Amino acid sequence: MHAIQITEFGGPDVMELVELHRLVPAEDDVVVEVAAAGVNFVDTYVRSGGRGGDLPRLLGAEGAGTVVDVGSNVQTLAVGDRVAWARAAGSYATHVALPAADAVRVPDGLDLELAAAVALQGGTAHYLSHSSYPLEDDDVGLVWAAAGGVGRLLVQMAKRRGARVIACTSTDEKADEVRRIGADEVINYRTDDVVARVKELTDGQGVDVVYDSVARATFEISLDCARRRGMIVLYGQASGPVPPFDLNVLAAHGSLTLCRPSLGDYTATPSELEWRLHAVFDQVAAGQLDVVIHDRYPLAEAARAHRDIESGTTVGKLLLIP
Ligand code: NDP
Repeated sequence: MHAIQITEFGGPDVMELVELHRLVPAEDDVVVEVAAAGVNFVDTYVRSGGRGGDLPRLLGAEGAGTVVDVGSNVQTLAVGDRVAWARAAGSYATHVALPAADAVRVPDGLDLELAAAVALQGGTAHYLSHSSYPLEDDDVGLVWAAAGGVGRLLVQMAKRRGARVIACTSTDEKADEVRRIGADEVINYRTDDVVARVKELTDGQGVDVVYDSVARATFEISLDCARRRGMIVLYGQASGPVPPFDLNVLAAHGSLTLCRPSLGDYTATPSELEWRLHAVFDQVAAGQLDVVIHDRYPLAEAARAHRDIESGTTVGKLLLIP
């Protein structure tokens, strides 16, 4: 088998395609032949050392493929089953081993590439819109990085829940795309004053919830955009972490609630994982969720994929095809 490995933390070029021994499943695991592996911004934090951990290590967390071997305790899956997953270390590979409990069946008729494209980012958009802040009719949400992988899916799920969506992005091309998938208002944060525009669009009140995945560059703006007793859901840090701050800032901005959620805590049991991913798969299969594949890359070109996602120029999903 082949996989992408790093022996040091650093830029995209630390990733190497290596040949490894065939995987043998542990008793609760399955081995899957990977049809497509998802590239996520989170993978760049792992590669650059932002998440710590031991070296050498294999990269990637998400994918979809076909089960080729099962451990002796596995009752729920069999060879030939089509599955997807959002947390299997070493998914940038031809084969990956993961606990059967972390593999979710892909419904018949749903393409494996599409399943790989939405397992992690769709699961994330689902918990953000349904659980971290369960959007309701007439809620107003501000979504940063709205044309990105999670962002595009979050805009669409928020709309399906009846919310009014104000989307922020960096270029007019991205703004057009976000409008196309249903955002009510789009702000180009490079050319417009985001706080002034949000206040204008909300009669001076601010939004009920801000979904902020950019962090360092946007957090202060997010605080100013939330309404009194609104919520900031800080779920990523594409521009770097928010510097330490005094919690009294939340009171000064109108008794705000701040949460910093993680997908693992919203898919902690097999039933919750399956519920979220099947909800997402069903929407994709029914054509209710528009999925855009930005590009497909051979495994050997993982570094190019990381350069692209870190450049901030991508729209939608990047996939590695082993
Ligand atoms: P994206 O496809 O959204 O790519 C990142 C986007 O962030 C860019 O396209 C760009 O959009 C924006 N951005 C703003 N500032 C920068 C910067 N300095 N460098 C690069 N990009 C920047 O990636 P993903 O969909 O994979 O992930 C989105 C975010 O969600 C990430 O922060 C990730 O860590 C987080 N995440 C969190 C999870 C959780 O459970 N907490 C799970 C999954 C993802 P624009 O040009 O529009 O500003």
